[in-house]
Amino acid sequence: MVMVQHRAPKAPRSAVERIVIVGGGTSGWLSAAFLSHMCGPDMLGRFDITLVESQDIGNIGVGEATIPTLRKTLQKVGLTESDFFRHCNASFKLGIKFVDWHRKPGDGAEDVFWNPFGTLPTAWSIPAMNFWLASFPGESPEHFTDLFTAHTALAKAMKAPKAADSKDFDGLVAYAYHMDTHLFGRLLRERAMERGVKRILDKVVAVERDDRGWIERLRLQEGQALSADLFIDCSGFRSLLLQQGLEEPFHSFEDSLLCDSAIAISQPWPEHRAAMRPYTTATAMDHGWAWNIPLYSREASGYVYSAKHTDAEQAETEFRRLIGDEEGRNPALHIKMKTGRVDHFWKNNCLAIGLSGGFIEPLESTGIYMVEAGLRELEQYFPDKVMSPHLQQLYNRHMRFIYDQTKDFIGYHYCMSEREDTAFWRDNRHGLKISDDLRFLLDLWRTKVPSATDFTPRVFSQDHYSFLMVGHRAWPKVRPPVFDLMNPEDGARLAEIIGRRKREILPKAIDQLAWLRSVHGGESRLAG
Ligand SMILES: Cc1cc2nc3c(=O)[nH]c(=O)nc-3n(C[C@H](O)[C@H](O)[C@H](O)COP(=O)(O)OP(=O)(O)OC[C@H]3O[C@@H](n4cnc5c(N)ncnc54)[C@H](O)[C@@H]3O)c2cc1C
Repeated sequence: MVMVQHRAPKAPRSAVERIVIVGGGTSGWLSAAFLSHMCGPDMLGRFDITLVESQDIGNIGVGEATIPTLRKTLQKVGLTESDFFRHCNASFKLGIKFVDWHRKPGDGAEDVFWNPFGTLPTAWSIPAMNFWLASFPGESPEHFTDLFTAHTALAKAMKAPKAADSKDFDGLVAYAYHMDTHLFGRLLRERAMERGVKRILDKVVAVERDDRGWIERLRLQEGQALSADLFIDCSGFRSLLLQQGLEEPFHSFEDSLLCDSAIAISQPWPEHRAAMRPYTTATAMDHGWAWNIPLYSREASGYVYSAKHTDAEQAETEFRRLIGDEEGRNPALHIKMKTGRVDHFWKNNCLAIGLSGGFIEPLESTGIYMVEAGLRELEQYFPDKVMSPHLQQLYNRHMRFIYDQTKDFIGYHYCMSEREDTAFWRDNRHGLKISDDLRFLLDLWRTKVPSATDFTPRVFSQDHYSFLMVGHRAWPKVRPPVFDLMNPEDGARLAEIIGRRKREILPKAIDQLAWLRSVHGGESRLAG
């Protein structure tokens, strides 16, 4: 139990005091933990927070790979990194290895590229990719990431991004995590409840509105009524409060992102494993792609596919073949996905956080990031009971931007592929709806490589586009004008600087499995 040191000063009459969160998935408990830590430890008790979740309606049960922003969020909610690793069977993620995305498998050389969490260097503001194109024509995409980041070397050596003396949340290079979603939810719940968050196990059966269209109260199955100043909808794809209760329309992205279904299967590790991959793998399949997420306790895999191009049974057969479980030893969870977003994530006194506001398919592990982004925006624009329309406008504008940019970035993975071997890949190559913003970038990048000022990135930067552009060999086919300004020797200098750094980092970096075993005291905690 955390001891209460201080109580928040009495809030003015107009201040938001009572918050009700609906939903006990990652969004719900992360929101509860975040809000109870929002203004620092002295604000303990500032809000009266109640979370209601239904045991009849489960959580989505997936969402186990993250991006580096989670490190800050974990700190924000008062967790130590070792607590997180120990309680969530977590592992390190240095980036994503993409397999078979460019060409049909079996068509020539191995088809692999990486999207690591590294940043690319520049020389006189000229992006590294230009020097690589000029100096290493014909090299593989892996050569590019190997040359300019330390991430792939660490990943291939199965190393953690940490030295023996690295502090919590600090590493030799940027990193994120894989974690067991159920255990993560449990840990967040414990921490939020230690901070005074109340939990009700019941089902919301009605959302009652007042004459302004604001939520007045929620009716629960057992008869209780809950009122609040602010309602947070974390009810998942159901979007019980925002889309159902307040009738906020949902805009589907199905024309831009074709995958709408998923299958998840977890497998036990072999008894004597010698190493563990510190990265996610995304393997292109006939009708979508498959994830592999190595957790400390189990290997989590899934197949994200388009139900317009195959059915659930065929998809499961194709997927089990990939993971070597044709006999069906491990149960499969089938999931329908709703890709798209609302326009107003915040409407009146209701805010949707997580799947209830929108979802982009999980190729770049952005689901939990969207929750983090929603909470950080809320912290910036936290309202009083008036719920200023200006705060709402900015919040909604920023959230739309984050979702739309992420949709474009995921769309880029598909539309740049040269695969034509199934209807799914042909439809991606020739039939995707591309936004004006992405269309502009695609046209721009016919004559130059991505650089920092080409757009205003919120989630994925020009470097991430560069890793993908190289992966798909989609670099400018004409000589970029910037080549005239370059000193070719700067490319070798950049590579030498990075090479030196890599030579320093690699021997310091510790073996991931050995580190995890030490965190767990030699034991593997099994998923709850
Ligand atoms: C196939 C797939 C793979 C994914 N992979 C990743 C990934 O690798 N990385 C990542 O960051 N994200 C990923 N995501 C997204 C991630 O799973 C979600 O963003 C995250 O789990 C948050 O979900 P949620 O809490 O919003 O919804 P849910 O987990 O669905 O929770 C909804 C909650 O609402 C409650 N509820 C619903 N109705 C009621 C009611 N009437 N009364 C009371 N309670 C109610 C339920 O009981 C539940 O607790 C993935 C998603 C999918 C579909």
